[in-house]
Amino acid sequence: MSRVVLLTGSNAPQSESVLHRTAQILARRIGSLECASQIYYSEPWGFHAERMFANQALLFTTTLSPVEVLDEALGAEQEVGRDRAQEQVEKSLTGERYASREVDVDVMFYDDEVINTSRLTVPHPLLHVREFALQPLCEVMADYRHPVLGRELKDIYEELKGAVAQTK
Ligand code: ADP
Ligand code: MG
Repeated sequence: MSRVVLLTGSNAPQSESVLHRTAQILARRIGSLECASQIYYSEPWGFHAERMFANQALLFTTTLSPVEVLDEALGAEQEVGRDRAQEQVEKSLTGERYASREVDVDVMFYDDEVINTSRLTVPHPLLHVREFALQPLCEVMADYRHPVLGRELKDIYEELKGAVAQTK
């Protein structure tokens, strides 16, 4: 049995119910949902959008391999109603790298594995510079040691918050 941690995100109008539905669908596809953080709200990151983003960290035990988890995560996005074609239209209209989305499901950690393939990078390559990822992750696993950076999540988060405060 492995332990996999996912981060869900949405800036749909009903983001809270979208994230609850996503968690249920993921539990059916991936395994037992052992722990879920609160839902946290933050400003969109990397692009302009009207609505706030909602994020939640989910910890599952699973018998699936990492790439099987990714496939189920992408399947759950589709099941919830993520429309990648519409996102492409929005990106080409705004010229931005990111677009509003119904739901995004990313793999943060899989046990202590370090994976670098064309389809999957684990730990997620940007989580350590994103407050919106670290905050919910710290609620679920503050003492977890990031297998690449070798530091506990709570320390990475505290340092990032300090760095952000200095730039304000
Ligand atoms: P983003 O999450 O960066 O906004 P997408 O959700 O469109 O972008 O994901 C694009 C691709 O990123 C996926 O099809 C997947 O193959 C790849 N990917 C690489 N590493 C991960 C990861 N840790 N979690 C989720 N997707 C990943
Ligand atoms: Mg994604």
